[in-house]
Amino acid sequence: MTDQAHDHRQSKSPASGKVYLVGAGPGAAELITLRALHVLGRADVVLYDYLVNPRILRYARSGAELISLGQHGATRIWSQHEINEQMVALAQAGKTVVRLKGGDPAVFGRLADELDYLCEHGVAFEVVPGVTAASAMSAYAGIVLTERDAASAVALVTGQLSDQAPHERLDYRALAAFPGTLVFYMGVTTAHRWVPALIAAGKDPKTPAALVRRCSLPNQLVIRCALKEIPDQIRSRRLRPPALVVIGSVVTASDRRSWFEHLPLAGRSVLVTRPEGQAEELLWPLSELGADVLVQPAIRIEPPESWEPVDQAIARIGDFAWIVFSSSNGVQFFLNRLRDLGRDWRALGPCRLAAVGPGTARALAAYGLLCDLQPPRFTADDLARALKHLAMGQRVLLVRASRGRDVLREELAGVAAEVVQVVAYRSLDVERPDAQIARRLAEGRVDWVTVTSSAIARSLATLFGTDLAKAKLASISPITSGVLRQLGFEPAVEATAATMPSLIDAIVRFETTRSSDA
Ligand code: SAH
Repeated sequence: MTDQAHDHRQSKSPASGKVYLVGAGPGAAELITLRALHVLGRADVVLYDYLVNPRILRYARSGAELISLGQHGATRIWSQHEINEQMVALAQAGKTVVRLKGGDPAVFGRLADELDYLCEHGVAFEVVPGVTAASAMSAYAGIVLTERDAASAVALVTGQLSDQAPHERLDYRALAAFPGTLVFYMGVTTAHRWVPALIAAGKDPKTPAALVRRCSLPNQLVIRCALKEIPDQIRSRRLRPPALVVIGSVVTASDRRSWFEHLPLAGRSVLVTRPEGQAEELLWPLSELGADVLVQPAIRIEPPESWEPVDQAIARIGDFAWIVFSSSNGVQFFLNRLRDLGRDWRALGPCRLAAVGPGTARALAAYGLLCDLQPPRFTADDLARALKHLAMGQRVLLVRASRGRDVLREELAGVAAEVVQVVAYRSLDVERPDAQIARRLAEGRVDWVTVTSSAIARSLATLFGTDLAKAKLASISPITSGVLRQLGFEPAVEATAATMPSLIDAIVRFETTRSSDA
């Protein structure tokens, strides 16, 4: 550090900004550091590279300006000079800037250029490290970089040979004699040049090697072969960046040591179609199983057009012997309304509570309320059957969605003293799908679509038409399967119980039976 640069940083006025050069990790969003999340949450502006997982951008402060620095073949790529200038201009305007880079900023990330430029302009900075692609590859492909008996060193090597013409820049003799593992970054498009050069310099052409593309992401691909076969493998499989090439005997045992590729849903994409805010229940377990989870809500949930009927029911809530909830949304909208009206749970007094299934019961539990009745199978018909006896001659309040089924009211009508049904929320179709997801589906690049209610089934048919048949459909219940069939779609699997875990089980069972048949 020069004295001059040091002075600049000391003299930074409190009003001036700061630049954080932050590693975003190799791909999987959760591989980012806590420090990185912390600074992202405070940034005014985020300048991000195309390799950064877009999911990470959700952690930026709301209202932060997000600027993409371009993607090869898709949008204009910013030059290094433009990036440098932009960072300095923003910091001088008092902004907190996060410059978010794939992997670790110091590994083939032009970090030195950026630091020097910031120093020259007296801009304060901090560097936040990230998990570099080689580390992620080691973890996610079972290639232990410095396995004790196989490698006493690792070299991270750039395969980008076009820079400043002379590809002699790489000392192939030294690399061929290197006593350890070689990891080539940016070496896919140039492998036909550097692989023969390495062999000519004395590296055994039979040295074990692996190509690892998009490591730590659900579509990670690992190809194991001998060093000399690398260019052919890249050509015949049309392998595109980002990928690493690893060379060394540490690759040998990696198949046995890898876990990510062997997850039951590895390489499978699953579209989750539940409304906003309710996708999590499927998203996390499916990701844990290795699936590439896409989210496209098919319906959206909104308050009822009028609260009048709900308010009237709440005003005489003590009259009801039973309150029956047919969804977790119903629980939330109804109880929140009760609270908004200035009441609390004591208003429910001796009312008994019924829930259609475990999700609804859990929603009640979140409010500290236990449910008195939950049918053995989680359908409205079963709930009606169970209630018929219990609610005989009593007053029953049914809390439901704008377009729920009418089975409960019909079944209880002749039996109960009074049945009041109120709409606590509206379920509306989403009108337009995300263009990228629609394209993937149309191209047959979505393996599964989860169909978790009849309303979702209908909306999906409108959103995607016959393209829906290009994916396998996983249906939550016989009723939903029936609706799908009426619409002309045959579900590939159906959950045994109408719950999210059971739906996931059905998909996993299908996939594992299929792969053991193969
Ligand atoms: N700073 C980054 C590297 C940037 S250079 C890091 O530390 O990882 C870009 C190269 O990194 C790509 O060409 C590829 O070789 C490698 N790379 C980045 N992400 C990768 C991933 N998820 N899987 C495989 N290689 C990756």
